[in-house]
Amino acid sequence: MKKAYFFDMDGVLFDSMPNHAQAWDDIMKKHGLDFTAQDCYRQEGRTGQDVIHHAIWQKEHREASEEEIWAIYREKSNRFLELGGAGPMRGVKDVLDYLMAQGKQLYVVTGSGQQTLFDELNKTFPNAFARERMVTALDVTKGKPDPEPYLRAWKKSGLEKSECCVIENAPIGIRAGKAAGLFTIGVNTGPLPDDDLYDAGADIVVKDMAALLAYLKAL
Ligand code: MG
Repeated sequence: MKKAYFFDMDGVLFDSMPNHAQAWDDIMKKHGLDFTAQDCYRQEGRTGQDVIHHAIWQKEHREASEEEIWAIYREKSNRFLELGGAGPMRGVKDVLDYLMAQGKQLYVVTGSGQQTLFDELNKTFPNAFARERMVTALDVTKGKPDPEPYLRAWKKSGLEKSECCVIENAPIGIRAGKAAGLFTIGVNTGPLPDDDLYDAGADIVVKDMAALLAYLKAL
């Protein structure tokens, strides 16, 4: 078994992708920008800022200002909450409990940039994650698929790369984990085919959290 586990958040810790996809679809349409629910699944893992920057560039061939990007991102975040936000992914608490009982280090590595992220995590998963064991959009200059977010988590851990494991649900996140040189497990909680996760470089792909727990227990 590895000593540290780096968890992606959306689609891994939280069953949040359906409402994220809907919120992106609604708000980007409202601004006349091209980024659909389907794009959201395919490109999941990119930071919201990056998505908005890109969409404005494609439409208007200009650099968007930070202010403009954050304004749209805030709208999208509000829409996500209006739609009901998200609860924990089914079965993930059992995975976290098992790893905690084994004395493993748990990290969150996410492209999300919500200010209240730590409080939300702590409310849903008490004692699982420490503030200093989080890497968010606010901590990196380049988001996934760049290896930077996972390299930051690895550096914080003080461990060898071979002692760390990434848990991801999306191709871009898997590419980031592999580019960082880390063992990466794909948990396919969304609508994409398993092959999309293998093609991104996943070392193994499991279908849900129960399968992930069975895999970890068998190690
Ligand atoms: Mg994800």
